[in-house]
Amino acid sequence: MSAHPTDAVLDLLMGHQRLLHDGDGTHGRRCARCRDAQRGRIDVHVRAGRAIPMLLPAFPAKSPNPDKVLGHLPDLAEELSIAFLEELCARVAEVHPPGAHLIICSDGRVFNDVVGIPDAHVSAYQREMADVLRRLGTAHISLYSLDDVYPGTDPAAMRRKLWADHAPELEALRDEVRGGGPMLGLYRGITRFLYEDARTPAFQGSNATLQRESRKRAYEVIGRSQAWGNLLSVLHPDAVRLSIHPQPCGHEKFGIFLQHTGDEDRWLTPWHAVAVEERGRFRLMKHRAAKDAGGRLVLRDGRPSHYVLPTTDHPTSSKG
Ligand SMILES: [Zn+2]
Repeated sequence: MSAHPTDAVLDLLMGHQRLLHDGDGTHGRRCARCRDAQRGRIDVHVRAGRAIPMLLPAFPAKSPNPDKVLGHLPDLAEELSIAFLEELCARVAEVHPPGAHLIICSDGRVFNDVVGIPDAHVSAYQREMADVLRRLGTAHISLYSLDDVYPGTDPAAMRRKLWADHAPELEALRDEVRGGGPMLGLYRGITRFLYEDARTPAFQGSNATLQRESRKRAYEVIGRSQAWGNLLSVLHPDAVRLSIHPQPCGHEKFGIFLQHTGDEDRWLTPWHAVAVEERGRFRLMKHRAAKDAGGRLVLRDGRPSHYVLPTTDHPTSSKG
């Protein structure tokens, strides 16, 4: 078995693809459209004998919703994902010795003001993420954020500058959402996040108002994310573009899972959930769900880390 290194790298990525399903159940790892969409960007680095650069806009900051997460700092959920991504890059190095270099482009600073996360929480999250990488001794991953683009600038000014330099055409964005394609799915997903995270006991307005505000803010989040993506394209024109969001078949961006399991709620990410251990296996759940399932909170260094679910079996058919 000696596949061309480019094909071997494609095999690894396709094994963790987060595909936007469109009702076609025939899709598999060998999909020629998806492979062809990535082949060129991988092959150019393989042939040059250098590490394959991969960009992943992700790990922005913890959701502000306590029903979803343990707090505003990274915990075991982030650590498991980083370990998974590092392992994936290490496996690339087995088939292409220069390996892959994954740049996690943390986009929290890009839109935290829209989603109600304080800048101080973004700073703390970024700092602790760097700690997670150090602790795990990752060799193939680095972190990059808006703070690296405009060092020494205050956060609001950074965001203004990003928008001024790289904003997408808003009318084109609206047309794309109205067009009903993948962008509509993304828009709906983000609207749902914003709605859920804002529906706290502190919110006094009506449900309809909250829905309307969430839809408006979803455009802002998507627009800012696109501005961030545009900037990254300028900085790394030849990198493989990964995404945490499911992408359609054959798209230039490649949707990828951040953990081994792929059958849970496909929108769950480490920053919208908690890590839960059940019978020695980890997965993500919303904080509230982990508590409701009788989970026991585990602290590490005095800080909330994850939950362990009870493993006692309840016989289903015993009646006395
Ligand atoms: Zn495909």
